[in-house]
Amino acid sequence: MDALDDLSAATPGAEARLVAALEAMETAPSTDWRAIAAPAERAERLAVELGRPDLRIRARLLRADVFSLEGDQAESGRIAHEAHAWATEHGHAYLLARSHRQLSLFFYRVGDVADALAHAVQCVAHTGEEAAPAVRARHLSTLAVMLDGNGSLDEARRRFQEALDIATAVGDARLSLQILNNMAYTAYSYQRLDEARELVERMRALQDRHGVPLAATDLDTIARVEMTHGRYAEAEATLRPILDGVAEHLLDEGKVLAECLLTVAEAQRLRGDLRAAQATLDRAVGVCEERGLASLRARVRDEQSQLYAAMGRYREAYEEYRVFHADALALQSAQREARARILQAVFETEEARRDSIRFREMARRDALTGLYNRRFVDEQLTPLLADAAEQRTPISVALIDLDHFKRINDTLSHAAGDAVLQQIATLLGQAATDDGVAARLGGEEFLLILPGAGSDDAVRRCEQLRRTIRAHHWQPITGDIPVTASIGVTTVEDGRGTPSALLAQADHNLYAAKRTGRDQVVADAT
Ligand code: GH3
Ligand code: MG
Ligand code: MG
Repeated sequence: MDALDDLSAATPGAEARLVAALEAMETAPSTDWRAIAAPAERAERLAVELGRPDLRIRARLLRADVFSLEGDQAESGRIAHEAHAWATEHGHAYLLARSHRQLSLFFYRVGDVADALAHAVQCVAHTGEEAAPAVRARHLSTLAVMLDGNGSLDEARRRFQEALDIATAVGDARLSLQILNNMAYTAYSYQRLDEARELVERMRALQDRHGVPLAATDLDTIARVEMTHGRYAEAEATLRPILDGVAEHLLDEGKVLAECLLTVAEAQRLRGDLRAAQATLDRAVGVCEERGLASLRARVRDEQSQLYAAMGRYREAYEEYRVFHADALALQSAQREARARILQAVFETEEARRDSIRFREMARRDALTGLYNRRFVDEQLTPLLADAAEQRTPISVALIDLDHFKRINDTLSHAAGDAVLQQIATLLGQAATDDGVAARLGGEEFLLILPGAGSDDAVRRCEQLRRTIRAHHWQPITGDIPVTASIGVTTVEDGRGTPSALLAQADHNLYAAKRTGRDQVVADAT
């Protein structure tokens, strides 16, 4: 790659050397991405000097990968997008394959696995016979990762195997290792432990045969698999070089160190050395905070909570778990926001229409629970009633109000109250089967619209919901305080009536349920 150092457009054979350098970078192990940053930039300049836009784009796609691994997804996505537009316009098969791959990785890293898979499929479809085998193997491996991410395990396995066969045939041991690592991690995460163990053994064998060092992610996978067989001390020993800092060069990404520390802390806890586990975990906290690794920081809290529990410090375990849970939720929404921002930045114009639909949808959702809000109910109830009237089918609505909810806020905390509301929303969402609509009207008051449900059916479903709420395992959130709901349900058999009359009748029934003892369903008097 450093072959580009002394190269200028005037050097004889410059073009051929540039092509060779690009190919070398395209097939370099992904752990070497840092080493590619500078030469890829030089390659881009040289391609411009040589007047070769296709080579310029190949160089830019390499840079896109560097941006992405440095964490700048927006810039990486923009380059991939621009490269793809150029390749489409010029019908350039190889660049179509390369840009689809980069788009696939982009969507994968911002958490959109479905689009990631669509681009990976296109990537392989455009990877022709003229592509170097090592490139082809990489593209197949990317497709396998995306298939796996979408739950197509068997397809994923088949593609991984194809990639591995090519890597083996061309004697690319580092690529083989990387593929085996992906396969092993997949097997591990789907609890196919025998397969995971077998793959890990193949990784070790490959390492022995070729003397290729295992990267930190490889070692982490191996350690995780060892732990599933109760081999905690071995797992710790596997990660020892990373822990002792003697294998700094094997770390391809900052977050891998924190991952490894987390694995070791867990191994130490499980083999009963709680002091060592605490020390390792403290180190993991330091790494997370120094590098701003928010999602790993949350996982460290989860482990800390388990460690406290192992020490018998249950109060602290509980507190830590609560912070973990709150952090994890906050993180989810922060990630969703970040993703929206990145997609916005990359696909500004052409995605504007889709965005506006998304924002309109957001305006109809309640922020805390994700259920529909009152505005949506106001908009939907009129047409739903009209449909029912037209088809002469019944429709029911139920108002659900939590009992003595104030007590949860007052004795525990507002955050505990919020957690209850979120859990209730999940239960309600499950109750809103078929065409049902679940909404949060405000505070601790919810609404269920059941189009097509006659009185008996509606009462049965509300009863079921009431019992589900009562029987739910609330202990982790509310301790000994029970959570119950009162429900007022009303039905119009032929859809005749107005939304406000319907809601007033449901409210009337709810009031009766509250007045006569709570935790019950009251329907229309017959
Ligand atoms: P009842 O059985 O009569 O319905 O008693 P209640 O305590 O459930 O009813 P009340 O209407 O007196 O109190 C509702 C409480 O809900 C008051 C308010 O602080 C709380 N609340 C409203 N919105 C939220 C929210 O978004 N989060 C949390 N944690 N609490 C909320
Ligand atoms: Mg209430
Ligand atoms: Mg209320």
